[in-house]
Amino acid sequence: MSHRPIYLDCHATTPLDERVLEAMLPYFKEHFGNPASSSHVYGWEAEAAVQRARSILADAIHATPEEIVFTSGATEANNLAIKGVAEAYFSKGRHIITVQTEHNAVLDPCQYLQSLGFEVTFLPVQRDGLIDLADLEKAIRPDTILVSVMAANNEIGVLQPLAEIGTICRQHQVLFHTDAAQAIGKIALDVEEMKIDLMSLTAHKVYGPKGIGALYVRRRKPRVRLSPQIHGGGHERGMRSGTLCTPQIAGLAKAVELGMEERETESRRLIQLRDRLWQPLSQLEGIHLNGHPTQRLSGNLNISIEDVDGSALLLGLQSVVAVSSGAACSSVKTAPSHVLLALGHSEQLAYASVRFGIGRCNTAEEMDCIAQHAIATIQSLRQSQAASFRKTVK
Ligand SMILES: *Cc1c(COP(=O)(O)O)cnc(C)c1O
Repeated sequence: MSHRPIYLDCHATTPLDERVLEAMLPYFKEHFGNPASSSHVYGWEAEAAVQRARSILADAIHATPEEIVFTSGATEANNLAIKGVAEAYFSKGRHIITVQTEHNAVLDPCQYLQSLGFEVTFLPVQRDGLIDLADLEKAIRPDTILVSVMAANNEIGVLQPLAEIGTICRQHQVLFHTDAAQAIGKIALDVEEMKIDLMSLTAHKVYGPKGIGALYVRRRKPRVRLSPQIHGGGHERGMRSGTLCTPQIAGLAKAVELGMEERETESRRLIQLRDRLWQPLSQLEGIHLNGHPTQRLSGNLNISIEDVDGSALLLGLQSVVAVSSGAACSSVKTAPSHVLLALGHSEQLAYASVRFGIGRCNTAEEMDCIAQHAIATIQSLRQSQAASFRKTVK
Protein backbone atom coordinates (compact mmCIF):
# COMPACT_ATOMS: atom_id res chain seq x y z
CA MET A 1 0.00 0.00 0.00
CA SER A 2 3.08 2.25 0.27
CA HIS A 3 2.68 3.39 -3.34
CA ARG A 4 -0.67 4.99 -2.60
CA PRO A 5 -0.66 8.79 -2.41
CA ILE A 6 -0.53 10.51 0.97
CA TYR A 7 -4.06 11.22 2.19
CA LEU A 8 -4.56 14.95 2.70
CA ASP A 9 -8.29 15.32 2.10
CA CYS A 10 -9.62 15.30 5.65
CA HIS A 11 -12.42 17.78 4.88
CA ALA A 12 -13.97 15.20 2.54
CA THR A 13 -13.72 12.41 5.08
CA THR A 14 -11.29 11.07 7.66
CA PRO A 15 -9.98 7.57 8.25
CA LEU A 16 -11.73 5.63 11.02
CA ASP A 17 -9.77 5.77 14.28
CA GLU A 18 -8.90 2.28 15.53
CA ARG A 19 -10.32 3.15 18.99
CA VAL A 20 -13.63 4.11 17.38
CA LEU A 21 -13.81 0.80 15.56
CA GLU A 22 -13.19 -1.02 18.87
CA ALA A 23 -16.08 0.87 20.47
CA MET A 24 -18.40 -0.13 17.62
CA LEU A 25 -17.61 -3.84 17.30
CA PRO A 26 -19.61 -5.20 20.28
CA TYR A 27 -22.78 -3.68 18.81
CA PHE A 28 -22.28 -5.51 15.54
CA LYS A 29 -21.75 -8.75 17.45
CA GLU A 30 -23.19 -9.84 20.79
CA HIS A 31 -25.06 -6.60 21.57
CA PHE A 32 -27.07 -6.57 18.35
CA GLY A 33 -30.43 -5.78 19.94
CA ASN A 34 -32.86 -3.11 18.80
CA PRO A 35 -32.68 -0.17 21.24
CA ALA A 36 -36.47 0.16 20.95
CA SER A 37 -37.06 -3.41 22.21
CA SER A 38 -38.14 -2.73 25.77
CA SER A 39 -39.10 -6.24 26.84
CA HIS A 40 -35.72 -7.98 26.98
CA VAL A 41 -32.06 -7.60 27.79
CA TYR A 42 -30.93 -7.40 24.15
CA GLY A 43 -32.94 -4.23 23.75
CA TRP A 44 -31.84 -2.85 27.13
CA GLU A 45 -28.14 -3.26 26.29
CA ALA A 46 -28.54 -1.46 23.00
CA GLU A 47 -30.65 1.26 24.61
CA ALA A 48 -28.01 1.75 27.32
CA ALA A 49 -25.36 2.26 24.63
CA VAL A 50 -27.54 4.80 22.83
CA GLN A 51 -28.17 6.70 26.06
CA ARG A 52 -24.46 6.72 26.86
CA ALA A 53 -23.74 8.12 23.41
CA ARG A 54 -26.43 10.77 23.81
CA SER A 55 -24.84 11.92 27.09
CA ILE A 56 -21.36 12.07 25.59
CA LEU A 57 -22.55 14.18 22.68
CA ALA A 58 -24.61 16.43 24.94
CA ASP A 59 -21.63 16.98 27.27
CA ALA A 60 -19.40 17.82 24.32
CA ILE A 61 -21.60 20.79 23.31
CA HIS A 62 -23.07 21.72 26.71
CA ALA A 63 -26.56 20.40 25.90
CA THR A 64 -28.78 17.78 27.56
CA PRO A 65 -29.20 14.19 26.26
CA GLU A 66 -32.88 14.80 25.36
CA GLU A 67 -31.76 17.50 22.93
CA ILE A 68 -29.83 15.09 20.68
CA VAL A 69 -31.61 13.59 17.65
CA PHE A 70 -29.65 10.96 15.73
CA THR A 71 -29.63 11.25 11.93
CA SER A 72 -27.74 9.64 9.04
CA GLY A 73 -25.26 12.52 8.96
CA ALA A 74 -24.98 16.26 8.61
CA THR A 75 -26.86 16.40 5.31
CA GLU A 76 -29.94 14.93 6.93
CA ALA A 77 -29.47 17.02 10.08
CA ASN A 78 -29.33 20.21 7.98
CA ASN A 79 -32.44 19.19 6.06
CA LEU A 80 -34.30 18.40 9.26
CA ALA A 81 -33.27 21.69 10.87
CA ILE A 82 -34.04 23.95 7.93
CA LYS A 83 -37.12 22.30 6.46
CA GLY A 84 -38.34 21.26 9.90
CA VAL A 85 -38.24 24.84 11.21
CA ALA A 86 -39.71 26.22 7.98
CA GLU A 87 -42.72 23.92 8.22
CA ALA A 88 -43.25 24.45 11.93
CA TYR A 89 -42.95 28.26 11.87
CA PHE A 90 -44.33 29.28 8.46
CA SER A 91 -47.37 30.94 10.02
CA LYS A 92 -44.96 33.20 11.94
CA GLY A 93 -42.83 34.08 8.92
CA ARG A 94 -41.30 32.81 5.72
CA HIS A 95 -37.89 34.45 5.62
CA ILE A 96 -34.62 32.59 6.17
CA ILE A 97 -31.06 33.94 6.23
CA THR A 98 -28.00 31.93 5.29
CA VAL A 99 -24.60 32.54 3.69
CA GLN A 100 -23.26 32.13 0.14
CA THR A 101 -20.35 29.96 1.31
CA GLU A 102 -22.47 27.32 3.06
CA HIS A 103 -22.28 23.62 2.17
CA ASN A 104 -24.75 22.42 -0.45
CA ALA A 105 -26.56 20.52 2.29
CA VAL A 106 -27.68 23.95 3.56
CA LEU A 107 -27.95 25.84 0.28
CA ASP A 108 -30.05 23.20 -1.48
CA PRO A 109 -32.76 22.88 1.22
CA CYS A 110 -32.95 26.69 1.26
CA GLN A 111 -33.37 26.81 -2.52
CA TYR A 112 -36.00 24.11 -2.29
CA LEU A 113 -37.89 26.22 0.26
CA GLN A 114 -37.67 29.20 -2.11
CA SER A 115 -39.51 27.09 -4.67
CA LEU A 116 -42.29 26.63 -2.09
CA GLY A 117 -42.64 30.37 -1.54
CA PHE A 118 -40.14 31.06 1.26
CA GLU A 119 -37.75 33.98 0.87
CA VAL A 120 -34.06 33.36 1.48
CA THR A 121 -31.27 35.92 1.92
CA PHE A 122 -27.85 34.53 0.97
CA LEU A 123 -25.41 36.81 2.78
CA PRO A 124 -22.11 37.61 1.06
CA VAL A 125 -18.78 37.13 2.85
CA GLN A 126 -15.81 39.44 3.14
CA ARG A 127 -12.54 38.66 1.32
CA ASP A 128 -11.39 36.60 4.31
CA GLY A 129 -14.52 34.43 4.21
CA LEU A 130 -16.12 35.83 7.37
CA ILE A 131 -19.59 37.33 7.34
CA ASP A 132 -20.07 40.97 8.28
CA LEU A 133 -22.20 41.00 11.45
CA ALA A 134 -23.73 44.34 10.45
CA ASP A 135 -24.94 42.69 7.20
CA LEU A 136 -26.58 39.96 9.24
CA GLU A 137 -28.32 42.38 11.55
CA LYS A 138 -29.58 44.44 8.61
CA ALA A 139 -30.94 41.33 6.88
CA ILE A 140 -33.15 40.32 9.84
CA ARG A 141 -36.82 41.23 9.26
CA PRO A 142 -39.98 40.82 11.34
CA ASP A 143 -40.82 37.67 9.33
CA THR A 144 -37.36 36.07 9.67
CA ILE A 145 -37.67 32.66 11.34
CA LEU A 146 -34.19 31.15 10.97
CA VAL A 147 -30.54 32.09 10.54
CA SER A 148 -28.24 29.28 9.36
CA VAL A 149 -24.49 29.96 9.46
CA MET A 150 -21.89 27.20 9.46
CA ALA A 151 -19.32 26.85 12.24
CA ALA A 152 -16.31 25.90 10.08
CA ASN A 153 -16.17 26.03 6.29
CA ASN A 154 -15.43 22.73 4.53
CA GLU A 155 -13.31 24.36 1.80
CA ILE A 156 -11.41 27.24 3.36
CA GLY A 157 -11.72 26.23 7.03
CA VAL A 158 -12.91 29.68 8.11
CA LEU A 159 -14.55 29.82 11.55
CA GLN A 160 -17.59 32.10 11.69
CA PRO A 161 -18.13 34.14 14.90
CA LEU A 162 -20.83 31.89 16.39
CA ALA A 163 -21.24 33.64 19.76
CA GLU A 164 -21.73 37.04 18.12
CA ILE A 165 -24.21 35.59 15.62
CA GLY A 166 -26.07 33.83 18.42
CA THR A 167 -26.35 37.06 20.39
CA ILE A 168 -27.80 38.93 17.41
CA CYS A 169 -30.30 36.13 16.71
CA ARG A 170 -31.41 35.94 20.35
CA GLN A 171 -31.90 39.73 20.51
CA HIS A 172 -34.19 39.52 17.49
CA GLN A 173 -35.86 36.27 18.63
CA VAL A 174 -34.80 34.41 15.50
CA LEU A 175 -33.71 30.76 15.71
CA PHE A 176 -30.01 30.10 15.05
CA HIS A 177 -28.86 26.91 13.30
CA THR A 178 -25.23 26.03 12.68
CA ASP A 179 -23.77 23.28 10.51
CA ALA A 180 -20.89 22.07 12.70
CA ALA A 181 -19.88 19.08 10.55
CA GLN A 182 -16.28 20.32 10.25
CA ALA A 183 -16.10 21.84 13.72
CA ILE A 184 -17.16 19.12 16.15
CA GLY A 185 -14.18 17.63 17.97
CA LYS A 186 -11.90 20.33 16.56
CA ILE A 187 -12.99 23.61 18.18
CA ALA A 188 -14.88 24.42 21.38
CA LEU A 189 -18.65 24.42 20.84
CA ASP A 190 -21.04 25.50 23.58
CA VAL A 191 -24.72 25.86 22.69
CA GLU A 192 -25.37 27.93 25.83
CA GLU A 193 -22.52 30.38 25.51
CA MET A 194 -23.02 30.68 21.74
CA LYS A 195 -26.83 30.80 21.97
CA ILE A 196 -27.22 28.08 19.34
CA ASP A 197 -30.71 26.58 18.89
CA LEU A 198 -29.94 23.85 16.36
CA MET A 199 -26.60 22.24 15.47
CA SER A 200 -25.78 19.62 12.82
CA LEU A 201 -23.07 17.05 13.52
CA THR A 202 -21.49 14.17 11.64
CA ALA A 203 -19.05 11.41 12.61
CA HIS A 204 -16.98 10.86 9.48
CA LYS A 205 -15.17 14.22 9.52
CA VAL A 206 -13.81 13.46 12.99
CA TYR A 207 -12.43 9.91 12.50
CA GLY A 208 -15.79 8.23 13.03
CA PRO A 209 -17.90 6.08 10.70
CA LYS A 210 -19.85 7.37 7.72
CA GLY A 211 -23.63 7.36 7.76
CA ILE A 212 -24.24 8.72 11.26
CA GLY A 213 -24.72 12.20 12.66
CA ALA A 214 -26.99 14.14 14.93
CA LEU A 215 -29.04 17.28 15.24
CA TYR A 216 -29.02 19.21 18.50
CA VAL A 217 -32.49 20.71 19.04
CA ARG A 218 -32.89 23.19 21.92
CA ARG A 219 -35.65 22.25 24.39
CA ARG A 220 -35.62 25.25 26.72
CA LYS A 221 -35.50 29.01 26.26
CA PRO A 222 -36.67 28.76 23.57
CA ARG A 223 -38.19 25.34 22.96
CA VAL A 224 -37.62 24.72 19.24
CA ARG A 225 -40.52 23.15 17.35
CA LEU A 226 -39.60 20.97 14.42
CA SER A 227 -41.69 19.21 11.79
CA PRO A 228 -40.31 15.72 11.22
CA GLN A 229 -39.05 14.97 7.71
CA ILE A 230 -39.07 11.18 8.12
CA HIS A 231 -42.28 9.74 9.56
CA GLY A 232 -42.68 6.28 11.03
CA GLY A 233 -42.33 4.59 14.39
CA GLY A 234 -41.94 7.82 16.33
CA HIS A 235 -38.30 7.32 17.33
CA GLU A 236 -36.26 10.27 18.58
CA ARG A 237 -39.33 11.84 20.20
CA GLY A 238 -41.13 11.82 16.89
CA MET A 239 -38.53 13.99 15.19
CA ARG A 240 -36.80 11.25 13.22
CA SER A 241 -38.27 7.79 12.83
CA GLY A 242 -36.24 4.71 11.98
CA THR A 243 -34.46 2.03 14.01
CA LEU A 244 -31.36 3.49 15.64
CA CYS A 245 -28.07 2.05 14.34
CA THR A 246 -26.37 1.27 17.63
CA PRO A 247 -22.84 0.54 16.29
CA GLN A 248 -22.72 3.79 14.33
CA ILE A 249 -24.08 5.73 17.30
CA ALA A 250 -21.44 4.24 19.62
CA GLY A 251 -18.84 5.16 17.01
CA LEU A 252 -20.08 8.74 16.69
CA ALA A 253 -19.88 9.23 20.45
CA LYS A 254 -16.41 7.71 20.72
CA ALA A 255 -15.14 9.82 17.83
CA VAL A 256 -16.47 13.04 19.35
CA GLU A 257 -15.18 12.10 22.81
CA LEU A 258 -11.66 11.47 21.47
CA GLY A 259 -11.79 14.62 19.38
CA MET A 260 -12.67 16.70 22.42
CA GLU A 261 -10.04 15.07 24.67
CA GLU A 262 -7.23 15.51 22.16
CA ARG A 263 -8.44 18.74 20.58
CA GLU A 264 -5.93 21.18 22.04
CA THR A 265 -2.74 19.17 21.59
CA GLU A 266 -3.83 17.95 18.16
CA SER A 267 -4.69 21.48 17.06
CA ARG A 268 -1.22 22.73 17.99
CA ARG A 269 0.34 19.84 16.07
CA LEU A 270 -1.80 20.46 12.98
CA ILE A 271 -0.87 24.16 12.94
CA GLN A 272 2.80 23.17 12.91
CA LEU A 273 2.22 20.77 10.03
CA ARG A 274 0.23 23.34 8.10
CA ASP A 275 2.92 25.98 8.53
CA ARG A 276 5.53 23.50 7.44
CA LEU A 277 3.59 22.90 4.22
CA TRP A 278 2.67 26.53 3.61
CA GLN A 279 6.04 28.17 4.29
CA PRO A 280 7.92 26.76 1.29
CA LEU A 281 4.86 27.13 -0.96
CA SER A 282 4.36 30.76 0.06
CA GLN A 283 7.83 31.59 -1.31
CA LEU A 284 6.49 31.12 -4.87
CA GLU A 285 5.19 34.09 -6.84
CA GLY A 286 1.45 34.41 -7.41
CA ILE A 287 0.22 32.10 -4.70
CA HIS A 288 -2.70 33.04 -2.43
CA LEU A 289 -3.91 31.69 0.88
CA ASN A 290 -7.72 31.47 0.77
CA GLY A 291 -9.66 32.41 3.87
CA HIS A 292 -8.77 34.18 7.10
CA PRO A 293 -5.12 33.48 8.06
CA THR A 294 -5.79 32.56 11.69
CA GLN A 295 -9.57 32.34 12.21
CA ARG A 296 -9.65 28.89 10.61
CA LEU A 297 -9.44 25.14 11.26
CA SER A 298 -5.92 24.08 12.25
CA GLY A 299 -5.73 21.38 9.58
CA ASN A 300 -6.93 23.48 6.65
CA LEU A 301 -4.75 25.00 3.96
CA ASN A 302 -6.52 26.26 0.84
CA ILE A 303 -4.47 27.99 -1.84
CA SER A 304 -5.06 29.49 -5.27
CA ILE A 305 -2.27 29.64 -7.81
CA GLU A 306 -1.90 32.16 -10.61
CA ASP A 307 -0.82 31.12 -14.10
CA VAL A 308 -1.53 27.43 -13.87
CA ASP A 309 -4.38 25.35 -15.19
CA GLY A 310 -6.43 23.97 -12.29
CA SER A 311 -7.07 20.49 -13.68
CA ALA A 312 -3.44 20.09 -14.85
CA LEU A 313 -2.34 20.99 -11.34
CA LEU A 314 -4.53 18.36 -9.67
CA LEU A 315 -3.42 15.79 -12.24
CA GLY A 316 0.21 16.62 -11.50
CA LEU A 317 -0.26 16.24 -7.76
CA GLN A 318 -2.38 13.13 -7.77
CA SER A 319 0.28 10.42 -7.74
CA VAL A 320 1.85 11.87 -4.58
CA VAL A 321 -0.97 13.41 -2.60
CA ALA A 322 -4.74 12.86 -2.38
CA VAL A 323 -6.26 16.35 -2.30
CA SER A 324 -9.15 18.05 -3.96
CA SER A 325 -10.09 21.38 -5.40
CA GLY A 326 -13.27 22.56 -3.74
CA ALA A 327 -15.67 20.26 -1.99
CA ALA A 328 -15.81 16.51 -2.63
CA CYS A 329 -19.58 16.56 -2.44
CA SER A 330 -19.84 18.84 -5.45
CA SER A 331 -16.96 17.40 -7.42
CA VAL A 332 -19.36 15.80 -9.88
CA LYS A 333 -19.76 19.32 -11.20
CA THR A 334 -16.85 20.99 -12.97
CA ALA A 335 -18.01 24.48 -12.00
CA PRO A 336 -15.52 26.53 -9.98
CA SER A 337 -16.02 26.51 -6.21
CA HIS A 338 -18.92 28.73 -5.13
CA VAL A 339 -16.97 29.41 -1.92
CA LEU A 340 -13.91 30.79 -3.70
CA LEU A 341 -16.07 32.85 -6.06
CA ALA A 342 -17.81 34.32 -3.01
CA LEU A 343 -14.39 35.50 -1.76
CA GLY A 344 -14.20 37.60 -4.92
CA HIS A 345 -11.79 35.38 -6.88
CA SER A 346 -11.74 35.24 -10.67
CA GLU A 347 -12.84 31.96 -12.26
CA GLN A 348 -9.20 31.11 -13.07
CA LEU A 349 -8.10 31.50 -9.44
CA ALA A 350 -11.15 29.60 -8.24
CA TYR A 351 -10.31 26.73 -10.59
CA ALA A 352 -6.59 26.70 -9.85
CA SER A 353 -7.01 25.97 -6.17
CA VAL A 354 -6.00 23.16 -3.89
CA ARG A 355 -7.57 22.25 -0.58
CA PHE A 356 -5.20 20.47 1.79
CA GLY A 357 -6.97 18.82 4.72
CA ILE A 358 -4.35 17.73 7.24
CA GLY A 359 -5.36 15.24 9.91
CA ARG A 360 -4.52 12.88 12.73
CA CYS A 361 -2.50 10.46 10.59
CA ASN A 362 -0.23 12.97 8.84
CA THR A 363 3.41 13.63 9.69
CA ALA A 364 5.99 16.38 9.24
CA GLU A 365 7.95 14.28 6.72
CA GLU A 366 4.83 14.03 4.58
CA MET A 367 4.48 17.82 4.58
CA ASP A 368 8.08 18.22 3.33
CA CYS A 369 7.53 15.68 0.60
CA ILE A 370 4.26 17.26 -0.54
CA ALA A 371 5.64 20.81 -0.49
CA GLN A 372 8.60 19.75 -2.64
CA HIS A 373 6.41 17.94 -5.12
CA ALA A 374 3.82 20.75 -5.30
CA ILE A 375 6.50 23.38 -5.95
CA ALA A 376 8.07 21.26 -8.70
CA THR A 377 4.65 20.66 -10.28
CA ILE A 378 3.69 24.36 -10.24
CA GLN A 379 7.04 25.42 -11.67
CA SER A 380 6.98 22.89 -14.47
CA LEU A 381 3.38 23.74 -15.38
CA ARG A 382 4.25 27.41 -15.51
CA GLN A 383 7.30 26.72 -17.69
CA SER A 384 5.43 24.59 -20.18
CA GLN A 385 2.54 27.06 -20.32
CA ALA A 386 4.99 29.92 -20.93
CA ALA A 387 6.69 27.87 -23.67
CA SER A 388 3.43 27.11 -25.46
CA PHE A 389 2.43 30.77 -25.11
CA ARG A 390 5.69 31.86 -26.79
CA LYS A 391 5.00 29.40 -29.61
CA THR A 392 1.50 30.81 -30.26
CA VAL A 393 2.84 34.39 -30.21
CA LYS A 394 5.45 33.52 -32.86
C1 LIG B 1 -19.38 16.86 5.06
C2 LIG B 1 -20.25 18.02 5.35
C3 LIG B 1 -21.64 17.90 5.31
C4 LIG B 1 -22.32 16.62 4.94
O1 LIG B 1 -22.21 15.69 5.97
P1 LIG B 1 -22.63 14.15 5.75
O2 LIG B 1 -22.54 13.60 7.11
O3 LIG B 1 -21.62 13.61 4.79
O4 LIG B 1 -24.00 14.15 5.21
C5 LIG B 1 -22.39 19.01 5.62
N1 LIG B 1 -21.82 20.18 5.94
C6 LIG B 1 -20.48 20.33 5.98
C7 LIG B 1 -19.90 21.65 6.36
C8 LIG B 1 -19.66 19.26 5.68
O5 LIG B 1 -18.34 19.43 5.70
